[in-house]
Amino acid sequence: MTKELPFNKEKLDKILEQYPTPFHIYEEKAIIENAKRFLKAFEWNKDFKEFFAVKATPNPFILKILKEVGFGADCSSLTELLLAEKTDITGEEIMFTSNNTPAEEYEKARELNAIINLDDISHIPFLAEHGGIPNLISFRYNPGSRREGNFIMGNPSEVKYGFTKKQIFIGLKELDSKGVQRFGLHTFIASNQLDLQYFVDTAEMMFKLAVEVKERLNIRLEFVNIGGGIGIPYHPEEEAVDLELMGRGIKLKYEEIIKGNNLHPLAVYMECGRMITGPYGYLVSKAIHKKDIYKKHIGLDASMNDLMRPGIYDAYHHITVMGKEEEAKTETYDVTGSLCESIDRFAVDRKLPKIDVGDTFVIHDTGAHGHAMGFNYNGKLRGGELLLREDGQVIEIRRAETVEDYFRTLDFEKLKKFKQ
Ligand SMILES: *Cc1c(COP(=O)(O)O)cnc(C)c1O
Repeated sequence: MTKELPFNKEKLDKILEQYPTPFHIYEEKAIIENAKRFLKAFEWNKDFKEFFAVKATPNPFILKILKEVGFGADCSSLTELLLAEKTDITGEEIMFTSNNTPAEEYEKARELNAIINLDDISHIPFLAEHGGIPNLISFRYNPGSRREGNFIMGNPSEVKYGFTKKQIFIGLKELDSKGVQRFGLHTFIASNQLDLQYFVDTAEMMFKLAVEVKERLNIRLEFVNIGGGIGIPYHPEEEAVDLELMGRGIKLKYEEIIKGNNLHPLAVYMECGRMITGPYGYLVSKAIHKKDIYKKHIGLDASMNDLMRPGIYDAYHHITVMGKEEEAKTETYDVTGSLCESIDRFAVDRKLPKIDVGDTFVIHDTGAHGHAMGFNYNGKLRGGELLLREDGQVIEIRRAETVEDYFRTLDFEKLKKFKQ
């Protein structure tokens, strides 16, 4: 099984002449095409909006590409709000979905006129104090462990997010009585989900909730946000979610429930991260060591601080060894980084062609939750981020970290006087 790459060995070798490994490289054309396809699947919903989950790939160049296609930004921290602002994404182009929110974040979100999506009923007075209650507000709904229709969830009642159903009604009633005029509801309960039925079921649950809100409180919602969580086929044998089919499935529920109850128009919002950029990013690294002990190990010049999904989630990321695409996968290797951590591995017992030191490894599907989850444990510095433009040019959209970056938070002058 193979996976496509947007470059061949010759092209990548050219890039490597200019940019040393490791780095993540993103493919602009594929990101744009995929984003447009996503919007098209929802074009039946006039006010449909996708707020890209900034945490997946918090790079302003990526945000700008997506903004141009018509996406907003889903932010959940002060820095993410600032990133959106620096990319000229402001106002209702920002969905601020945070939890356990610090006061300064609400203040910034209010300053930017972002759509505020409250995570808890106690945040109503908290927001009133820090930034003030806006005229448009959303609540995050946690449906608990109850089943709604054929909707089967993990166990939302075990997680920290959102309002209970009872609290949704109490909160809406309270803000309605205080003169708030525009309301939305949000939920987010799936992660890396490849079964489109989950999203149809989530939409159905939210549409029914909109009807109930109208019936019990006489409040007409302006939008429902059905969250992110669409999965991607990390494994070559998995299949991507059929966006058109998902869009049509949600449309049918919309017609039945929303139009059927005279609640049309209602905007549908989503805040996907992974499926927007995930498949269009690659971590490029070189084999620097081979060792043969109880198992065979290939050591790369990247470590889990460049990509921690395999280490912490045991996640599969496909690997292509450049120039050896057609060779038989006769060897079994663990592919490792150089942290002093046994989970610092990109692959375990992976069938690969025979590897030589110096081989270029391309690790697939790192365009979301890849570089973003990087960290500096063991004093490891994060590599940079490159963008392969539509015209074939490559630009650096974030340089690699340097030792100076790592030391920037330390004061060695102060150290000289310390314990003298
Ligand atoms: C992480 C997150 C997302 C995006 O999830 P993906 O799996 O990347 O689609 C969306 N909304 C919220 C609130 C999140 O925390």
